[in-house]
Amino acid sequence: MKRKIIHVDMDAFFASIEQQDNPEYRGKPVIVGGLSGRGVVSTCSYEARKYGIHSAMPMYMAKKLCPQGIFLPVRRKRYEEVSEQIFKILYDITPFVEPVSIDEAYLDVTHVDKNPEDIALEIKKRVKDATGLTVSVGISYNKFLAKLASDWNKPDGLMVITEDMVPEILKPLPVTKVHGIGEKSAEKLRSIGIETVEDLLKLPQENLIELFGKTGVEIYNRIRGIDERPVETMREIKSIGKEKTLEKDTKNKELLIQHLKEFSEIVSEELIKERLYCRTVTVKIKTADFAVHTKSKTVDKYIRFSEDIYEVAKGILEEWKLEQYVRLIGLSVSNLSPVKYEQLSFLDKRLVKVIKAGNLAEEINKRIGKKIIKKGSELLKDNK
Ligand SMILES: [Mg+2]
Repeated sequence: MKRKIIHVDMDAFFASIEQQDNPEYRGKPVIVGGLSGRGVVSTCSYEARKYGIHSAMPMYMAKKLCPQGIFLPVRRKRYEEVSEQIFKILYDITPFVEPVSIDEAYLDVTHVDKNPEDIALEIKKRVKDATGLTVSVGISYNKFLAKLASDWNKPDGLMVITEDMVPEILKPLPVTKVHGIGEKSAEKLRSIGIETVEDLLKLPQENLIELFGKTGVEIYNRIRGIDERPVETMREIKSIGKEKTLEKDTKNKELLIQHLKEFSEIVSEELIKERLYCRTVTVKIKTADFAVHTKSKTVDKYIRFSEDIYEVAKGILEEWKLEQYVRLIGLSVSNLSPVKYEQLSFLDKRLVKVIKAGNLAEEINKRIGKKIIKKGSELLKDNK
């Protein structure tokens, strides 16, 4: 299954916040950065970019280019506050968010039951409503292309790069647009007459390895639309799920069970990818009157394979008395743990009992690795 990756990048983040907070700065060249002698530009508004100012430029140079500009110090705390609002919106969409910086993130929306363009529009609208700011969003099937897409028509951009557009769309780009090729590498390439991705595509892999070492392989793949880097979530994942609005409302349990089977496979795949096990399975149903009902079951051992998850989900649905037509069905797993129950068997059985009485997942999360044993014996003492 091709992934669905979204890259979100705020437009001129610091400068836009200043313009939002101070209406008198709107429409004017605003430059945010270090104002002391050796300071550099952090961000500047699009109005300032017209004067040739860009981030990382020494501040004195920016002042020379645009003496009438509005020069402001960095208000880190304020920017972090706004960043938090934005990330809250992103985490609302999926737990699979990889923050790249204060104003940039990747989302893996492969299992979100909406098409990625709609998700992108939703992000843009919600960010605008919450903060007044615009964001550029790129959509593709890997991180490299998603980032390229978000950069495509900034500010306030929305761009999709699909498989059939590659590599044609990449060919005219300067090599510096390829993730992994910095200014230095670009110089190397220029010296052998390579300026664009189209030139780069002509180089065999061996040449790229000669030039860049291990990164050479990555670059070779990237410009051919291959980039397997996962979206790496920093946050503890509390649950994983999949749901679907049905094409037609139904009371047919067989049909609903079929969906649960499909969801079990998707959820299992995700658990394995995240190296997690689960203990609680929840089935969600939205009835024709839009009421949401959930039923959960917690099993004794940690599971992650689709058959096991399906077994529990199916059991829940079979016992469910459906009084109304169902318009949406969902399955999620929670009570997640990076270690499964069996791996604890080397410990004292009593310890297992003690931990089990509490929240096993929580205990293990706190005591991953060797610390389990030490802490475990302490725990036993406390509980004697
Ligand atoms: Mg940005």
